[in-house]
Amino acid sequence: MAYYGPDFGLLEQQDPEIAQVLLDELDRQRDGIQLIASENFTSPAVLAALGSTLTNKYAEGYPGRRYYGGCEVVDRAERLAVARAEALFGAEHANVQPHSGASANLAAYAALMQPGDTMLAMALPHGGHLTHGSKVNFSGRWFDVVSYGVRRDTELIDYDEVMALAIRHRPKLIVCGATAYPRLVDYAAFRAIADEAGAWLLADAAHTIGLMAGRAIPSAVPYADIVTFTTHKALRGPRGGGILCTRELAGRVDRAVYPFVQGGPMMHAIAAKAVAFAEAARPEFAEYARNVVVNARVLCDALADEGMRPVSGGTDTHLALIDLRGLGVSGAEAERRCAVAGITLNRNAIPYDPEPPAVTSGVRVGTPCVTTQGMGPQELKEIGALVAQVVKNPDSAQAARERVEQLLVIHRPYLSEY
Ligand SMILES: *Cc1c(COP(=O)(O)O)cnc(C)c1O
Repeated sequence: MAYYGPDFGLLEQQDPEIAQVLLDELDRQRDGIQLIASENFTSPAVLAALGSTLTNKYAEGYPGRRYYGGCEVVDRAERLAVARAEALFGAEHANVQPHSGASANLAAYAALMQPGDTMLAMALPHGGHLTHGSKVNFSGRWFDVVSYGVRRDTELIDYDEVMALAIRHRPKLIVCGATAYPRLVDYAAFRAIADEAGAWLLADAAHTIGLMAGRAIPSAVPYADIVTFTTHKALRGPRGGGILCTRELAGRVDRAVYPFVQGGPMMHAIAAKAVAFAEAARPEFAEYARNVVVNARVLCDALADEGMRPVSGGTDTHLALIDLRGLGVSGAEAERRCAVAGITLNRNAIPYDPEPPAVTSGVRVGTPCVTTQGMGPQELKEIGALVAQVVKNPDSAQAARERVEQLLVIHRPYLSEY
């Protein structure tokens, strides 16, 4: 198995328990339909870079300015990753060291705010992220957070409310971007609000950066002072984060990532990010990103046809949020029923959800994984029907599972190149 690197046989010999975990997880990923909106299948080239000896190297600092000797080789990986990210996103500056999306946000906030400062961000129950001011997260503990949400009638961001809150509270920072919002974010509107309020604008594009890379949706880069992102969601790279910013903020962002938030960068992950940025610059990736959006729309329509109501009436992106109240099934129960049929998705709160977060009234579905596997509208229409079938009638799970297996015979990840 090339994907484990050259020494998988050695791993099997020396640590059969962990070798078995790797094999079982590969089987799990291959044997189901993955509709988790934040997941993807990286290329074998990305996996090869991740499983490399670059993990051995300490390289605190930045290329040419390290606090360790022997960094001249890994410097090349980071310079390539930075140059490729800047070119791919048309950004003045990129920092590729954040270990994750949450670390990228921590560093970005540190670059722009002091503890106690006010920030305005999307409420978690309306689609925002934990790092957008949840009380159980550093962001809610260290900053004075004001939240905006979506309108009850349209389920779209209420830009009038955002403007009113920005003028009333004068936040230092406005955060836009979300984890469960199916529609486009109007970055120009947020820019105008930030300018009016004298605030910095941060776009958290953790979910959508891959669609921006493939030009399938408009980019946040021309509007935001800082764009934070993950590399492992629709972008299809290694697990990790990154920050794009203006030239003006480059020094502040770099100092916030290191030495303020992080120590040594993960050079193997940075090399793998460079590989992913190069892959995302190819025309095939642009086609992939467009297909992800088309597939999400088809899936969303197929679910709507079965009485599963899409929040906001549809999707412009890679994901849809589905309100199950019309069927009388909770999000948690729907998640369990789909799992029996070999379809992995997650329960998710819908705006103004009457149910607690562990139960919820909705599910979130996304198409980055199935599109990487080469599935198209025909398959997504059928997957929508299968999801609806098992959610409504758990007794049909076995029949659905068989159909899932048939679909996967020709669309199994890591059996074909992409
Ligand atoms: C996924 C996500 C993050 C966090 O990324 P991690 O790599 O899990 O830390 C941050 N913001 C948003 C909007 C996300 O969707």
